[in-house]
Amino acid sequence: MLEGVRHVRRQRVRSSREEFREKLETFAVECPPKTETPVIQLISSILGQTAPAELSSKPVHEKVKLAHHPPISAISPAVTNSLLTGSGSYDHAGEVTAVDVRLLTLPMREALAADHGTTSTRSLTVIGLKIMSQTNGSTWAWGESAALATTGYSAESAEQSFAALSAMASRLIGRRPVDIISVPGSHAGQDGPKATDAELDPPLGSLSSAAVEMAALDAVGTLNGRSLAEMLGSANSRIPAGAAVGLGSPDGVAAACDRLIASGYRRLKLKIQPGHDVELVGEVIASQESDVDWHVDANGSYNDEAVGTSDAVGVMVKLAELGVTAIEQPFAPQDLSAGSQLVSSLAERQLNCQVVADEGAATAEAIIRLSEQEAATAVTVKPSRYGGLAAALSMVELCRRLGLAVSAGGMIESALGRRSLAALAGHPAFSLTGDLSPSSRWMAMDPWPDLATHQAGSGGTLMVEIPSEPGVAPPPDVDVLDQLTANRFFSD
Ligand SMILES: [Mg+2]
Repeated sequence: MLEGVRHVRRQRVRSSREEFREKLETFAVECPPKTETPVIQLISSILGQTAPAELSSKPVHEKVKLAHHPPISAISPAVTNSLLTGSGSYDHAGEVTAVDVRLLTLPMREALAADHGTTSTRSLTVIGLKIMSQTNGSTWAWGESAALATTGYSAESAEQSFAALSAMASRLIGRRPVDIISVPGSHAGQDGPKATDAELDPPLGSLSSAAVEMAALDAVGTLNGRSLAEMLGSANSRIPAGAAVGLGSPDGVAAACDRLIASGYRRLKLKIQPGHDVELVGEVIASQESDVDWHVDANGSYNDEAVGTSDAVGVMVKLAELGVTAIEQPFAPQDLSAGSQLVSSLAERQLNCQVVADEGAATAEAIIRLSEQEAATAVTVKPSRYGGLAAALSMVELCRRLGLAVSAGGMIESALGRRSLAALAGHPAFSLTGDLSPSSRWMAMDPWPDLATHQAGSGGTLMVEIPSEPGVAPPPDVDVLDQLTANRFFSD
């Protein structure tokens, strides 16, 4: 009997691997543009570029990994430059005359507790570029690094990001915004001065790279009167808001959910950890009306040390039975076997619940492994983690080709970062409602104008408006910016 079960399982694993190989072969050989948006077409053309000759003897799936998933820092600028130069006419004439790097401390309305720690004030680093243009005069453009106060959850800390961006600031002077996008490791800019890898030694981390890319996109959009959403091909004008709720007692979590539901949130993500799971979630769900879409996020806390795999899988199945529709990062990022067990357990019971990889989806290679082992059914895409928006879009395209659903993940950004995330999340590829809420959900003060929301009548779902102003965001309130600045580096 047991041998029979094993045989069936081996067959299933083999057939899913074969299916996966077929998917990758299609990915490598055909790479057809699947939609009309310029971004997807451009990404397809870049992902579909000819493989170098030295790869020709390797199996197809190896070729795909090596040829089409080079380090993300190399994908990002190539895609972005194609985006900016290939999908409309842009004024490339502006150039940077000053750089303003700031370490900010944003006061929060309430602390957010998760398995990896509690955040009660938000340290974050922003970079401002002063652009002089013959047609537009002088303007400032801004980008945000989502690095947290300490390393761990993010590879860089806010202070490290501040130091790295300050160290490279003078190299940005005299460049055009379109060339700056190519700075993190690329030679793909247009005429004029270009950065080289040697100039960026050590190279910027992905969170700092994302800040530079955001500032350059803000500049190009502002100079050309085009919103970020327009530049990214994001078709939706508004999307449902989603909110995360930190760890706490059942009464405390239920009270927080009450307030959010009264504000119109219809998708809530509860933080969980071992010992704060089935009972907590069951009580909270039972205390609310039934039209809420419940997600949970364990931040990888169910590992072998905390709780055995079979018990942990059992907990997650119970959560799905309670009505949870998405379980984010239940297990440690490297524990693909537990993820596979959960995916198959949910499928066997015909429970309609996504298994979402967040911390475990750090690279293209990790996403491919998750798909190969059927250890997740969806991915949370966080642009900062991949080095920026262009890299995030290439991850979205990779997920689409592997049949993984995608949601947009936040990192408690300021309104600047949230506007950037909203522009991305307006892309039709994002099928799973993500963590997008206005900055005022967490921040007591914010230099940038907040995301606008819309609620259709009382009791309607709260929707976030995709920003339509040129660039990433309107200018910050300089007085508030100065008030929240803890450290500053200025170069001109
Ligand atoms: Mg998460």
